[in-house]
Amino acid sequence: MPNFERVTVPTDGNHITIKNDKLKIPDNPIIPFIRGDGIGIDIWPATQKVLDAAVEKAYDGKKKIAWMKIYAGDEAVEQYGEGVYLPDDTLNAIKEFIVAIKGPLTTPVGGGHRSLNVSLRQLLNLYACIRPVKWFKGVPSPSVHPHWMDIVIFRENTEDVYSGIEWEQGSEEVAKVIDFINNTMGKNIRLDSGVGIKPISITGTKQLVRKALKYAIAEGRKSVTFMHKGNIMKFTEGAFKDWGYELVVQEFRDHVITEAELWDEAMAEDGVTPITKPGAFTELRGGKPAGDPNGRIIVKDRIADSIFQQIQTRTNEYDIICTPNLNGDYISDAAAAMVGGLGMAPGANIGDFVGLFEATHGTAPKYAGQDKVNPGSLMLSGVMMLNYLDWREAGSMVEKAIERTIETKHVTYDLHRQMEGATKLSCSGYAEAIVSNMQ
Ligand code: NAP
Repeated sequence: MPNFERVTVPTDGNHITIKNDKLKIPDNPIIPFIRGDGIGIDIWPATQKVLDAAVEKAYDGKKKIAWMKIYAGDEAVEQYGEGVYLPDDTLNAIKEFIVAIKGPLTTPVGGGHRSLNVSLRQLLNLYACIRPVKWFKGVPSPSVHPHWMDIVIFRENTEDVYSGIEWEQGSEEVAKVIDFINNTMGKNIRLDSGVGIKPISITGTKQLVRKALKYAIAEGRKSVTFMHKGNIMKFTEGAFKDWGYELVVQEFRDHVITEAELWDEAMAEDGVTPITKPGAFTELRGGKPAGDPNGRIIVKDRIADSIFQQIQTRTNEYDIICTPNLNGDYISDAAAAMVGGLGMAPGANIGDFVGLFEATHGTAPKYAGQDKVNPGSLMLSGVMMLNYLDWREAGSMVEKAIERTIETKHVTYDLHRQMEGATKLSCSGYAEAIVSNMQ
């Protein structure tokens, strides 16, 4: 175990370990948590209360999380000194204890500071950002059929334009880059440009797609869609799609069928002339949403702009969406908006084993310390974490209790302002209501 400078390891817990390529979870796992900046001060205690109550109830007190406080953001500066937003203790603790959870973190303003969230993902190689988006009964939504939404977004987390390789307009570096590209590669970038680089690798793509496929198989999902802009960016986004298809047929052949293969099969069976329209096979199958009659996972791809329409108009044809970093950022928030907004959208950043579960919204500083905001996003990230530990009974207990609380119209201010006849609860009051709704 590393020597921690300012972290106290609980004495009543045990390590999560890795055995035969699988996580081994003790009954009292030590789980590090980062409270988070801004509204972290409100939503973390509410979340901890709900997760502890569910574990206690689901396992009659035989399991218990030993929480271990670690620091990032403003709290880290208080503990470790000026400018230390992400101490080594924090990175070492997450590596050592494998599963961790965090509230939102402020991106420090000013030169030299990168986003703490991006740093955590890159330094820990948490290459998959996983965002389930699902509607909870009773949550106000701008969609006509919000219950059609039940997708999981697998967003690549370590490369693409997010890798932070860019040069400022007017700098010496950008002049060199432009000179090289224009004069050696025969291109024509305007001399007064800033330049960013968009690397997308076989390694980054395949590790993400492999994780998405394993998840799809484990969770009995029906389809995986590669969302890309390969019609324009052929060697990055287009390659992402090609490498994705290559991997699924190489490594998951028995579990998958590509959409093109399914058309061929359907057309051969139905004796109709080929139709080359994406999604046409669903019409051949009696208009039912994506589903292979033989139970295989359908792998398909869609251009990024079209999928923004499709998730609204043909929501139930999408199940798992696998995509490079920037597309993933956009589609996650757009999908979350369709089911009631970011206050309810959970997320996780996962590598080969290490998992960091997090609220997807920011620190909402104007509400910090007011015991007001919706802790739903962090609580549902906690549900993902419980499922990752395979403590599914506890996870499902939290999810159902949240649903019951919303259905009875006991909600925080954000949902209250959109619901008629609802009772407005504080953040902590909402947590209490959820605990009392656990069955
Ligand atoms: P934000 O903190 O997400 O807040 C924007 C608005 O979203 C809030 O004013 C509020 O809307 C609503 N909101 C956010 N969380 C909510 C919750 N739990 N319950 C109810 N409503 C909620 O975005 P921001 O103001 O752009 O960013 C503030 C800071 O957070 C920045 O420093 C940013 O870098 C950081 N950030 C961190 C993360 C992360 O740690 N993962 C993610 C995004 C941003 P209303 O005012 O309409 O009620």
